[in-house]
Amino acid sequence: MTGELLRSLERLLLPNSCLVCERLVERDRPDDLLCAVCRWRFRRVGVGCERCAHPLPPVGPCRFCSDWPAALGRTRSAVWLTNEARVTVHALKYDGYTRAAEIMAEAVASHVLHPEVDILVPVPLGRRRLRSRGYNQAAALCRALSRAWGIPMRDGVLERTRETRSQTELTPEERSENVRAAFQAKPPDESSGKRAAIVDDVLTTGATLCAIAETMAGTGWIEVNAITFARAQTYESKVLLG
Ligand SMILES: [Zn+2]
Ligand SMILES: [Zn+2]
Repeated sequence: MTGELLRSLERLLLPNSCLVCERLVERDRPDDLLCAVCRWRFRRVGVGCERCAHPLPPVGPCRFCSDWPAALGRTRSAVWLTNEARVTVHALKYDGYTRAAEIMAEAVASHVLHPEVDILVPVPLGRRRLRSRGYNQAAALCRALSRAWGIPMRDGVLERTRETRSQTELTPEERSENVRAAFQAKPPDESSGKRAAIVDDVLTTGATLCAIAETMAGTGWIEVNAITFARAQTYESKVLLG
């Protein structure tokens, strides 16, 4: 089925009220999942650590990324994972609303600087999960972002070689253990360039991005950055947002 046909079909099935607050969605954006007020309530991740953008402590290094391997470079997210962002992520991941990927890509393109990379690479899903869900939500976001930024997307660079357990209930240590050696990367070639940005929906601890960056560095990629739509809230971000 073509993308346009899919979108028209989806439009017919879309709820006409906002997924977050249930207000009716404005007529000028009839295929939106969120009303203008809820889109406006997205909380942008501001300026912070040069590498990961987390709010910095008054003194000393960044608490968030100081343990990350050197392979993972600049990591940016558009918004904090507040309720509005969580509902949007959920709509794409579990309810299959591809329109949510467009909303997420719009937020990234307006809050994150255009990265100096050759390609965008979505975090892959395991085969089993891909079969049961039918699509990869990170690839949907990556595709929309590729259009918005004019940077090519490469879907086949990464492969998940081992099905990982769902990350949500794990401690940070268990998360890194869970994703270690779960990915395989193709080396860069003439058409891909050697600088890539990994794209995912949510950044939590960074364990997945770190594992991927190390794998890619091992096969010859010289720069691996990362971009996500949302970022899990931390103590510092909650203080900052009030
Ligand atoms: Zn709303
Ligand atoms: Zn940092």
